[in-house]
Amino acid sequence: MDSELPQQIEDSPVSQLPRVGPKLNSLLEKIGITQIKDLLFHLPYRYEDKTRAVPLGSVVAGKRMLVMGQITKVTERFSGRRSLVVDIRDETGSISMCLFHFNMRQRENLERANWIRCYGELRPSRYKLQMIHPEYTVFDTKPRLPDNDQLTPVYRRADGISQYLIRTIVKSSLVVSQKQALQELLPDEVLEANRLPDIHSALQYVHAPPVQSAVFGTVDHNVPAMRRLIFEELVSFQIARKRQKLLRQSSNAERMSPRGDLSSRLKQSLPFEPTGSQIKVIREIIADLKSARPMLRLVQGDVGSGKTLVAMAAAAWVVDSQYQAAVMAPTELLAEQHHKTFTQWFLPLGVEVQLLVGRLSAKERRLVTHAAKHGSANIVVGTHALFQEGVEFKKLGLVVVDEQHRFGVGQRYALREKGITDTMVPHQLVMTATPIPRTLAMTFYADLDVSSITEMPPGRVPVQTAVMPASKRSRVLTMVRNLCATGQQAYWVCPIIDKSETIEAQAAVEAHQYVTDALEGYSVGLIHGRLKSKDRDRVMDSFRKGKIQVLVATTIIEVGVDVPNATLMVIESSDRLGLAQLHQLRGRVGRGSKQSRCVLMHKDDPSRIARERLSVMQESSDGFKISEIDLKLRGAGELLGTRQSGAQLFRIAELPRDMELIDEVNQAATLILDKNPALATPLIRRWTPKDGDYSSV
Ligand code: ADP
Ligand code: MG
Repeated sequence: MDSELPQQIEDSPVSQLPRVGPKLNSLLEKIGITQIKDLLFHLPYRYEDKTRAVPLGSVVAGKRMLVMGQITKVTERFSGRRSLVVDIRDETGSISMCLFHFNMRQRENLERANWIRCYGELRPSRYKLQMIHPEYTVFDTKPRLPDNDQLTPVYRRADGISQYLIRTIVKSSLVVSQKQALQELLPDEVLEANRLPDIHSALQYVHAPPVQSAVFGTVDHNVPAMRRLIFEELVSFQIARKRQKLLRQSSNAERMSPRGDLSSRLKQSLPFEPTGSQIKVIREIIADLKSARPMLRLVQGDVGSGKTLVAMAAAAWVVDSQYQAAVMAPTELLAEQHHKTFTQWFLPLGVEVQLLVGRLSAKERRLVTHAAKHGSANIVVGTHALFQEGVEFKKLGLVVVDEQHRFGVGQRYALREKGITDTMVPHQLVMTATPIPRTLAMTFYADLDVSSITEMPPGRVPVQTAVMPASKRSRVLTMVRNLCATGQQAYWVCPIIDKSETIEAQAAVEAHQYVTDALEGYSVGLIHGRLKSKDRDRVMDSFRKGKIQVLVATTIIEVGVDVPNATLMVIESSDRLGLAQLHQLRGRVGRGSKQSRCVLMHKDDPSRIARERLSVMQESSDGFKISEIDLKLRGAGELLGTRQSGAQLFRIAELPRDMELIDEVNQAATLILDKNPALATPLIRRWTPKDGDYSSV
């Protein structure tokens, strides 16, 4: 369908539009607009109704509106802040307009004029309603209304580009697209099935809705035009994901076929029985590893469900097949812990495990990279240092990414590339403790296969959670003290209050002081991001061995740390953290068979929402439920870790808001890939101006 159309405007630069010279061109480029289509898809976020004037007698405070009237008085005031007040009147009432920044010329203009038309928000003031710094125009005689029956769009603010200018060039881009036909990228079948308008009317409507449309104020995502655009964006994202999956399924991987009996020896040496869930997931992984197609499997399992064992079983299978495995963790702390656990299990079985993290000395690093390159290291555990320049593997068969929500997809792909020879792609296992609701998983993980660990190891006692104001700190300290007397251990967490690691560390140093003061006779450790990793190791090790009873920490201990004798988790300022994060932190306790507790401290007068959120933590220990609530409260970006990578996921779609479209979007994406595959690339390009893909997601 696309070959017969005239030259598309899809690829025309904005500089082809009237009024767009080199200067404006470069300003537009700064906000990601280089082509006419970018301008067409640069959508307003709200509208103003300038087609009718509200009589002054019926204006309301707090609303933006157009008013007009006769100027009755212009006064310059000097009391307090210098200001210019203009009184305005019509047959029904009066208001005033007020400027704080003005010059002589403006003042004279206003004094000379008889009539004024203003657009702005009305606020109550001492005598009458007031508009502060509205957009205004003055007239000698009674003005007419602007000749217009459409709402006026308001676009995102951009440096150096006025609303007026952006409106004008968007308008001309609409005209151009009318003439040169912006390609319709959704097949008729999809449009009809979902009752969506064509692309042209949708854009026309969204940039200039008719006044009667009543989409007054913010853009209403429910109007058909908006729904159509959101639908198309989601289809584009879904297609990108599905194509990635197809690509993977058409590439080759080594079949992993073990020579020895490493897997069963590992199983025999375990001090516990794997849960049914662990066994099921391990079987799913092994089935993938045996195939000649690269595995890309996500294992989701709540904190403490035993994902490490699953990773180990996968690694054992691969190592026994004479290949290497790389295990990547988001923090050095976690990488070190994994290294320890893996070494503990694997070393007695004759498997060599190495650690590769940023802090290694040049010499240590050389030893590890040499072992990876020549194949003597069977398993290399590390942080993202694993995929830096100069790290090569002899025969990489498997990449495991733990706590994947902490990484961007881009980083995941970078590591996998390591093992890609001319023809072969390594198998990949990604693990996350942040369960994703089904519809979201369908969207974001459409390129992955998903396994879930649904069962906890037996004997776990749910963590009891209490919520307490900061003023009760001494009571909490007594609680910690009593706990230490029983030989158990505690975490005391000071979360990120400031974005700066230094300030965060300071808070931890301070907390360390008062915890130490309150716990005379016990040993209190301190761990934060500014500590040298050697010192961090030392502290962590002492805590693991029970030489330290209380560990004061920043949120760096959030992921993965596993010390079963620690049974109390105190979190200060917990009202400032997300639910998923609190759940992760709380997951550091309750790892053994003893009753564990978690105390969530909050500022003395928390907001209603904060209280509500903390009570969710008190009532539920189900990661799925918590993440679903978190999703509602904070949106998808946070949950999927995209905020860390700085990527704004969608331009106009928003999850979970648009979740009810996902099933239809999914069908449409499949249909397009099956029947109109030529539309796939233009669709993705239309919605991802810079990269042409979603790899930064
Ligand atoms: P997570 O899924 O959060 O990564 P871990 O793999 O760290 O969980 O496991 C949490 C704890 O549970 C560890 O101490 C681990 O040894 C233990 N564990 C794992 N599987 C079992 C099991 N089947 N039975 C008993 N304990 C288990
Ligand atoms: Mg883990």
